[in-house]
Amino acid sequence: MHEIRIAEDLSAIVLEAAKQENLSKVTMVNISFGQLVQIVPAIFEFAFRESVRDSIAQDAELSLEIVPVKMKCAVCGTDFQVKENHFACTDCGSTDLKIIHGKELFIKSIEGE
Ligand SMILES: [Zn+2]
Repeated sequence: MHEIRIAEDLSAIVLEAAKQENLSKVTMVNISFGQLVQIVPAIFEFAFRESVRDSIAQDAELSLEIVPVKMKCAVCGTDFQVKENHFACTDCGSTDLKIIHGKELFIKSIEGE
């Protein structure tokens, strides 16, 4: 259930950013997270709602963008997108891989008025 901690952290960032932008209301929060973060969107959304209750972001729409896992093969240097948890180089079959994308978790943007 790490969604709750993540939701609390992100909602704090949203509220801080809204304050700096002098917003009276947050209408939209765009969040990107990598597939490897393994967030359950429904739980995350629920936890986020709880975190922003009675704040200026309580009615904000939440948009979650999932970043696919991209890896680079340490043997032949091929970049490839991981499909169906198949963690092996698509070119040479090596499992000696570096993660390029898939572990990120950040607020892409917020909108408000
Ligand atoms: Zn390879």
